[in-house]
Amino acid sequence: MNFEAFFETELDKLKDAGNYRVFADLERHKGGFPKATRYGEDGETSEVTVWCSNDYLGMGQHPTTVAAMKEAIDKCGAGAGGTRNISGTNHYHILLEEELADLHNKEAALMLTSGYVANWAALGTLASRIPGCEIFSDSDNHASMIEGIRHSRAPKHLWKHNDPADLDRMLSEADPDVPKLVAFESVYSMDGDICPMKEILDICDKHGAMSYLDEVHAVGLYGPRGGGIAEREGLMDRVTVIQGTLGKAYGVMGGYITASTALIDFVRSFASGFIFSTALPPALAAGATASIRHLKSSEMERARQRKNVRILRERLDAIGLPHMMNESHIVPVMVGDAKKCKFISDLLLDQHGIYVQPINYPTVPKGTERLRITPGPLHTEADIDHLVGALSELWSQCALSRAVA
Ligand SMILES: *Cc1c(COP(=O)(O)O)cnc(C)c1O
Repeated sequence: MNFEAFFETELDKLKDAGNYRVFADLERHKGGFPKATRYGEDGETSEVTVWCSNDYLGMGQHPTTVAAMKEAIDKCGAGAGGTRNISGTNHYHILLEEELADLHNKEAALMLTSGYVANWAALGTLASRIPGCEIFSDSDNHASMIEGIRHSRAPKHLWKHNDPADLDRMLSEADPDVPKLVAFESVYSMDGDICPMKEILDICDKHGAMSYLDEVHAVGLYGPRGGGIAEREGLMDRVTVIQGTLGKAYGVMGGYITASTALIDFVRSFASGFIFSTALPPALAAGATASIRHLKSSEMERARQRKNVRILRERLDAIGLPHMMNESHIVPVMVGDAKKCKFISDLLLDQHGIYVQPINYPTVPKGTERLRITPGPLHTEADIDHLVGALSELWSQCALSRAVA
């Protein structure tokens, strides 16, 4: 087989379909978030304002986070030096896991390499090792949960997105004696919609099902201490497993689950994706711990973010640009055409110094192509005006329709 030709043909297919991903080559500026230097193909550099970062609150460059990481590097060096079992457990990992358990008011926590690995390993392990376990998964669940479920080989039932009645119906049809695990998210990343958590948990209780909640887009951002939507709604103690990331609002890297002591010990003891992988560097654990602690008591970042989300939505409304309504911090500006979405994104970057990655199929359904904008606490009103002005110009240039006020 001509492997090279095969790879190239497959890539050409992606390009023809408009699904080929091009990375923006950026150097983020500590102290200047959300500004970054962009490296162009010709080697030239320019300054851009980032509008699509999942470092939602700028914690990745917060002095508290950075200082904690530097201190840990000076103390412990670069890497962890092993898997958690074989010499890789550093005291910073233990402190982080205590911090996480406290954040979600759970008995225990386990740190994994990423949010992806946390979902993959935890769901894969639970669903494969609980005898006869069946999974009930929200139809919009993230790829990491889908892969974990697939890996477990447990029977899977997809319920309609955010539809507790559909979940209830499916659980009612299942064998009452079979162990059931319900997997869902709080804030969905692409539409920014939030699940009806209490209703879902009521139904889990009714059928004796275990609940598994991905709070990746909510931790740090919602709840009085940043514990997520479950904390905001006073529901943390009713969720069996709360999963999160340290790479988004906490600005560092890593993933985790929190739950009862026995469940955490079970995943720790049986999950291959945890056992056989080098522990994250102590400095990451130290930085994440500092970031979590900061957001437990500081409301300022969340308040400023909410204000900027509100201002952006008002300015978009004023000029009739369509954005999907939701009650989260994610502002999806709807283009509805893959080529135009990419075109607008390219021109924003090349001509206006604004970086918003286009979101096209298969990440979102065809016809709902969008710019997923994530205002943060450090965007200024001038940044917002600049973004909205540029969008308005490009909207006209692409002959896209506007809502009539
Ligand atoms: C990003 C994401 C993850 C993975 O988290 P990482 O820490 O980035 O690996 C898991 N679930 C959802 C819903 C996500 O959006």
